[in-house]
Amino acid sequence: MSHAHSMSCRDMAAYLSDYLDGELQAGLRALIDEHRGDCPPCEAFIRTLARTVEAVRAQPREPLSSALKKSLADSLRRARRP
Ligand SMILES: [Zn+2]
Repeated sequence: MSHAHSMSCRDMAAYLSDYLDGELQAGLRALIDEHRGDCPPCEAFIRTLARTVEAVRAQPREPLSSALKKSLADSLRRARRP
């Protein structure tokens, strides 16, 4: 097995908004998909974030970027590990 794990949890967070927008290039997308499979906390986090994005898009009163930033910050603070 030769798995190249070049995507860390922190790296991933930086790409998530593009990932959820479907604007991420295929290579990075594949790395995130792979990371999700190996990292249950990130998988859970991405699901939560995806729901947040859906909710915000459904009622466009708050700008997506600020809602996303808040959600990201909250989740990262809660999930921070050594
Ligand atoms: Zn992770």
